[in-house]
Amino acid sequence: MASTDFQLTVLGTRGSIAMSGPDYVQFGGNTSCYMVRAGEETVFLDAGSGLLSAPETCPKAAVILLSHLHLDHVIGLGMSPLLSQKGQEVEVYVPFCPDEKTARTQLDRIYSPPFWPVRLDDLGARLHLRCLPECLAVGDLRIEAMAGHHPGGCAVYKLSYGGKTLVYATDYEHSEDSDVRLAAFARNADLLLYDAQFCVEDYERKKGFGHSTAEKGLELMERAQIRRLLFIHHDYRSTDRLLRAREEKLEKENASYAREGQTITL
Ligand SMILES: [Zn+2]
Ligand SMILES: [Zn+2]
Repeated sequence: MASTDFQLTVLGTRGSIAMSGPDYVQFGGNTSCYMVRAGEETVFLDAGSGLLSAPETCPKAAVILLSHLHLDHVIGLGMSPLLSQKGQEVEVYVPFCPDEKTARTQLDRIYSPPFWPVRLDDLGARLHLRCLPECLAVGDLRIEAMAGHHPGGCAVYKLSYGGKTLVYATDYEHSEDSDVRLAAFARNADLLLYDAQFCVEDYERKKGFGHSTAEKGLELMERAQIRRLLFIHHDYRSTDRLLRAREEKLEKENASYAREGQTITL
């Protein structure tokens, strides 16, 4: 990759819980984790089980942006080779917390006995827990966040580099108010990652669960003039066959369901 490239690699995109087996080969079974490379910088969007497929080292400090602390978005922190690497610097940003002590307390609740044998502090990497500011720069990569719509809260991220923009809206449920804000935040984005966990029929039974549909993603794409749409956070019941069928029905060249291992250059 050229040192000026801006790339997204899908390391995991399964929603709520990891899956495995012959029905989950094409779209993958690991939970939420995406690697963004912007020149020399490496940023991970969430730290689900997909984080275990990340490279074992990064040229500079790795940055992990957590959207929220639901287990499917943090379950990779405890076992990741990257975080076990001695000397690797890793900065983890936690949204919606007042100070760094609170960020630590929240993650320590998950990563301490009896729930997990090893504390994050005792992994090999040097881990720095930070509260997410509204705006952040990692080298020339600019990062902005807004509050999405999800039980307990969830951050939506916008990453801009070299004149290109990607927006990450996982665990996002459409609503009149949040759609207005998201359309403004994501306007003219080159790539939008959008939570399409449910089909329309499922959504009717699962309103308020904090997830959306491909149809709502397409509406947003139109409204905010977004160039490419990638549907993410696939339901545990969504097999390869089912996702392929949904994708065909969309009949949209620039909208597809994310596949684990897929890389997109912006
Ligand atoms: Zn989730
Ligand atoms: Zn969630």
